[in-house]
Amino acid sequence: MPHEVRAVIAMKKDAPAEVQTVLVPDPGPGEVLVSIQACGVCHTDLHYREGAVSDDFPFLLGHEAAGIVEAAGPGVTDPRPGDFVVLAWRAPCGSCRSCRKGRPWYCFDSRNARQPMTLLDGTPLSPALGIGAFADKTLVAAGQAVRVDPAARPEAAGLIGCGVMAGWGAAVHTGGVGRGDTVAVIGCGGVGNAAIAASALAGARRVIAVDIDDAKLDTATQFGATHSVNSRGTDPVEAVRELTGGFGADIVIEAVGRPETYLQGFAMRDLAGVLVQAGVPAPGVTIELPFQELFSRGGALKSSWYGDCLPSRDFPVLIDLYLSGKLDLGAFVTETIALEEVEAAFERMRRGKVLRSVVVL
Ligand SMILES: [Zn+2]
Ligand SMILES: [Zn+2]
Repeated sequence: MPHEVRAVIAMKKDAPAEVQTVLVPDPGPGEVLVSIQACGVCHTDLHYREGAVSDDFPFLLGHEAAGIVEAAGPGVTDPRPGDFVVLAWRAPCGSCRSCRKGRPWYCFDSRNARQPMTLLDGTPLSPALGIGAFADKTLVAAGQAVRVDPAARPEAAGLIGCGVMAGWGAAVHTGGVGRGDTVAVIGCGGVGNAAIAASALAGARRVIAVDIDDAKLDTATQFGATHSVNSRGTDPVEAVRELTGGFGADIVIEAVGRPETYLQGFAMRDLAGVLVQAGVPAPGVTIELPFQELFSRGGALKSSWYGDCLPSRDFPVLIDLYLSGKLDLGAFVTETIALEEVEAAFERMRRGKVLRSVVVL
């Protein structure tokens, strides 16, 4: 019997997100039904609602979630009912050309639930990033539900399912930040601050936070930034050079997704430095780079997909770092809200006033 649950739906382009009753099937082979405890409001949910991701309306929003496995379908041995899980939007298939090359963190055919969740009239829903967790319950592929230590608070734990993992992995996996590196992070929202925390824990010598908002720069310092630059009044390229002996940073993480900040990142690297793009650009935006400098400065320009993470490997590690007090996941939670308040939270997010609003169920 399908479960009737409350869920936040975007019915059509630019329409306000609304709570509706939806039908969630019992899990089939390879699927699990998860009772959601908390789900963070991410920019990508707003992008879905604005029609900037695809036209496959109606969307079931929410994808940064933690909960308890309520039922497991036939053949599922992990996780089991009762397990505390964080949901991932990457569940490597094991058989695509990237998985076969031993790079499951790029998996090109990530697993999702096969059965659709629907509106009461049977209209199938497109779950955001294959999850759809602004709901009392959701249906995902078993590989998307990653077991972590149940001592973690759900509203903090869920955040590693998207923004925190993306920023953390951008620094450590994509950028390869290690001991003694100098790092600059442009944009100090959830993703940028996670990159700052990861760089500090990885042993970076200097971690320079760049933003246009002094309050955000203060928060970045709490996450481990050693220096901060307000790029509204200062040329950030010059400032980063000054803070790195005149050379530039070894690794720059761009967590905004705009051409201006990307070009700043390109220019504030040391020779042979790495620029990691973690900010998601808007559709249709182009960028122009000085071709000769692209060659003569060397190094690498990399894009980070979900922090090049392997959820089953990385989620339990981040939760353990949180529980041992080394990673303050709780500091990302600006406010906890009800399911009905997601639309209002989008508005606060647009104004840049929150790190994360988290729906608690
Ligand atoms: Zn694969
Ligand atoms: Zn997200």
